[in-house]
Amino acid sequence: MAAVPGAEKTGWKNYGTGETIAIPGDMEPETKITKTESKSEAIKRTLKSNLLLILLIISMGIGVALGAGLRSVDPPFTKRQILYLRFPGDLLMNMLQMLILPLIVSSLVSGLASLDTRSSGRIGLRAVVYYLTTTLAAVILGIILTVAIRPGSKGGAVEKTGESKVVEPADTFLDLLRQMFPSNLVQACFSKPVTEQVLRVDEDANITDVNATAVYDPVVEMKPGMNVLGLVVFSIFLGIIIGRLGKKGQPLVALFESLCEATMVLVKLVIWYSPIGIIFLVAAKIVEMEDPAKTFEQLLYYFITVMAGLVIHGFITLPTIYFIIVRKNPFKFIYGVTQALVTAIGTSSSSATLPVTMKNLEENNGVDPRVIKFVAPVGATINMDGTALYEAVAVLFIGQVNDFDLDIGRIIIVSITATAAAIGAAGVPQAGLVTMVIVLTAVGFPTDDVTLILAIDWLLDRFRTSVNVMGDAIGAGIVDHLSKKEIRKMDLLDSVEDTENGVLNIAYEEAGVKM
Ligand code: ASP
Repeated sequence: MAAVPGAEKTGWKNYGTGETIAIPGDMEPETKITKTESKSEAIKRTLKSNLLLILLIISMGIGVALGAGLRSVDPPFTKRQILYLRFPGDLLMNMLQMLILPLIVSSLVSGLASLDTRSSGRIGLRAVVYYLTTTLAAVILGIILTVAIRPGSKGGAVEKTGESKVVEPADTFLDLLRQMFPSNLVQACFSKPVTEQVLRVDEDANITDVNATAVYDPVVEMKPGMNVLGLVVFSIFLGIIIGRLGKKGQPLVALFESLCEATMVLVKLVIWYSPIGIIFLVAAKIVEMEDPAKTFEQLLYYFITVMAGLVIHGFITLPTIYFIIVRKNPFKFIYGVTQALVTAIGTSSSSATLPVTMKNLEENNGVDPRVIKFVAPVGATINMDGTALYEAVAVLFIGQVNDFDLDIGRIIIVSITATAAAIGAAGVPQAGLVTMVIVLTAVGFPTDDVTLILAIDWLLDRFRTSVNVMGDAIGAGIVDHLSKKEIRKMDLLDSVEDTENGVLNIAYEEAGVKM
């Protein structure tokens, strides 16, 4: 059996020697630069290998221009017209989300089945240490910036928009545990348990006193949406166990490896549609925006604080960590996953971006597929640096608007709960806004006040999702570098197995035994 199916076919990585041949973009191995290549041929080749990225960036620009143009039409677009405008974008979201289930399950199972328990334990531990350290670093950066800039004490009065939800932090925590162990796997593909606070009217109480009669009862309901956490946990255990079954587990390993290969081919097809989808996702969002000038005037400093944090974390903190550990140019690595970063801005969802992230990591950055298959799906589900930073800034901003004291005790509580809330947030649009209520409750700030930042949340969501994806990608690169020893050992074992099989086959042939 070959170390990694398909690897020999693509020719991108020699698993026997561990040597990596870096090939940018979608370039095929045979199109590598030759000395006789003319300048125009080189330009053509560069354009071809970066075509998708160029198209994605152009589509962002077209989306913004189209949205801005359509905003000024008179009469303004109705809800129905906006829905039609979004339609090609909705198709993209559907296609990407359709791939999440087969991709997460098949990549985690086949990835973990190909690792021995010791190696998967070590790789997993490295990933978790990286996730926790970088998420905490993002939260601390957010706190420092908010305390220094004081966005909540600047700008005009902030208006509340929309409605807030009643959330109990303990219930949200229990929901996470419930989601980790779904009672029905099929149901986990389309719904997840969420505790809702249902208002009960206490009939015995004095009806003239409204507060005395309003009691919230917790009710666990199945809400629509894939329970990604549950599927990840199940796939991790299944993968480890299949790997330990040895020969008996081989048919299942082959099944999931084959499913993973097939899904990645589908990913390649969908990715070529993404520039079209992104034009309409962005345009429709811009058309439906509330008065942007007013929103920006009120929330400008908050916006600047979050953006400054995201830029510092994405372009200074994470690259520095990568450079210190891997000793290679982090920006070259980030360039390799630009398609995924742009897709994250377009879709606001790190789960929907996962297929693109995995493809970029393997094809452009030469990360070992076994590490990608294990680390990327887990990262997209629990590692959210951008969300953690934003939650810390948003909560302290709400505290500043309300003139609450920000003592050291509260700051410590924000650091811990914002990290937990980011881990608990799903990789879907604006999930961070929901889990932020946990942080607000923990420090005793009014949960109603999430509505202060609602107007601008859709925009910040796109950028924080991009930083979430960057964190996942850099994490995969770092874990890959740190796990070289385990990977080499597995390659060696595989090649010994291949040789043994080969020797056996020759022996059988010589003995005239039919295989
Ligand atoms: N949209 C983010 C993601 O998918 C989560 C959030 O911060 O709301 O990563």
